[in-house]
Amino acid sequence: MGISKYHLQDMTTSRSGTDLDRVVIVDGYVDEPTCLGVPPYVSPYPRYIAGAIWTKSPHTEVLYQTIDQVRRMEDPQRLWSTANMLLLIAGMIVPGKYLGGTPVSVKEAKRFFSDVRLDDIPKLLVGPWARFGCGLEGGRMAVSSDVLLPPFDFIVPGDPEVVLASVMSDNGNLSAVDLSATRETPQDMEEYAVRGAHLIPQHPGYSRGHIICEIETYRGCPRYITGGCSFCTEPLYGHPKQRHPSDVAKEIEALYREGVQAFRIGNQADLFTYGSKEIGDEEFPKPNPDTIQKLFSKIRQAAPQLKVLHIDNVNPGTIARHPDESRSIARIIIKHHTSGDVAAFGVESLDPEVMQQNNLKANEEDVMRAIRLLNEVGGHRPPWELPHLLPGINLLYGLPGESKRTLDYNLSFLERLLNENLIVRRINIRQVIGFPGTRMRSKRKSTLKRHEFFRHKKQIRESIDYEMIRRVAPYGTIIRSAFVEQEQGNTHLLRPLGTYPPLCFMPVGRKIDELVDVFVVDHGPRSLSVLPYPLEVSKASLAQWKAVPGVGAKRAARIKGAKTIVSAEQLEGLLELELPSWLTRSLRFAGD
Ligand code: SF4
Repeated sequence: MGISKYHLQDMTTSRSGTDLDRVVIVDGYVDEPTCLGVPPYVSPYPRYIAGAIWTKSPHTEVLYQTIDQVRRMEDPQRLWSTANMLLLIAGMIVPGKYLGGTPVSVKEAKRFFSDVRLDDIPKLLVGPWARFGCGLEGGRMAVSSDVLLPPFDFIVPGDPEVVLASVMSDNGNLSAVDLSATRETPQDMEEYAVRGAHLIPQHPGYSRGHIICEIETYRGCPRYITGGCSFCTEPLYGHPKQRHPSDVAKEIEALYREGVQAFRIGNQADLFTYGSKEIGDEEFPKPNPDTIQKLFSKIRQAAPQLKVLHIDNVNPGTIARHPDESRSIARIIIKHHTSGDVAAFGVESLDPEVMQQNNLKANEEDVMRAIRLLNEVGGHRPPWELPHLLPGINLLYGLPGESKRTLDYNLSFLERLLNENLIVRRINIRQVIGFPGTRMRSKRKSTLKRHEFFRHKKQIRESIDYEMIRRVAPYGTIIRSAFVEQEQGNTHLLRPLGTYPPLCFMPVGRKIDELVDVFVVDHGPRSLSVLPYPLEVSKASLAQWKAVPGVGAKRAARIKGAKTIVSAEQLEGLLELELPSWLTRSLRFAGD
């Protein structure tokens, strides 16, 4: 990765001596092992970059657009041609499918930024693609970011906020700047994190309140001292660098002042080791509940009326080795967070051969211990709502050492969970992307065939997922503040804000607001059928009544044909059906 030969001197000197009036940031979205930025998530990247620009050049206009907005524009280049600098944030490191947006592709990055009107404007590629290479899709090797030179003039492998701060300090002169510059300490970017909160009102989800900010607590993985997991880019950051709880809280306070009410403390390798004094010395540092307590109580002081406070990554190996401290931490989180929270465990594989070849973090017994502990502490729920804090499982396929036998190990582990009556919020099944610099690139490949992988995935979806989601969200469970994200024919697709929010399908009825409370009336393998909560008996549509198990088309028509229904008894008489209590408690009758 390097600097383009294209017009470097020309374009930078032609702008030297003047402030940059306008910078355009296009968010192509990131999905890294420790950071998510696909809507409704907003990653720290655009916030920190904007904050760096405003810190050094307060009058520069920063125009922020998501790649989905760009796709909908007829001629984005016309607007961009008025800017002094263009930035594209991009980086799919972890492959996934997304409902809220589609990450930029290499083809799009080339197409959008290749326009003669942009020739004289410096174009910078920043974020994980620039640092690690361009991940295309699971199961494929990443390609060098040099494929984007041109149309981009500069690939920025360093921390974009640090590089941009230098550029702005030098009046936009890129020729003297070290594009590989990184933070010395997290304190280097704390001011940027606070100032960058001001970017949020430009996000397309802002006016609907459909935004959740991903928050960083530390960067790097404590397991870097043994090399970390073979496929992971996080150990490439070296020694983990931690933010102070009060700095995290200041950033949240600034975001909250801008109107953000949902936060995920998800940008770190393992939240349970945040604040540990042993980070850098031990592969599995002992957790420090005092720091976690400080962090969460400061966050609550900074954003007292927040609506969502969730977490993300936790290393099951940490919980297995330090159960007492981990139990304390889980309790602290539950005291301060909002329910429906998930601690994602990067299990990756239960095959001992794969674990050994890829230096994975936890074996099957470690993972079982961690799941049991979180079920015990976090499995309870506020009345009729989602459980407080459940584990989520990430499985990764395509790793060295993998064979058909791996599928048996993974499946039997998942069956064990069912048999022990344990709950995991979701099972994420993905195929690895090989990145330059990771040890996986140099190892022998998996011998698993594509069709074997897809058959196995289907088996998990059918035999495990369905039962799991029934345990997570039994009939009658209320999901608060779900957003209508899409309409597909006669069905709304809704999700609440949060970590791994359940996907809800609701038959269209009378017009609803974008934000609605719903309750569960049925289950799919990875989704829920829901109706508005409470359900107004006289106003629910035919399609909505048909979605209630046991009602069916004929009975639904009977309800719609009835004049006024004032009680559950009357409704049961009309249907000649005894209704379950979870349903009757969710109904609202005329006169209620
Ligand atoms: S434990 Fe493994 S997957 Fe998780 S951040 Fe560290 S190296 Fe990456």
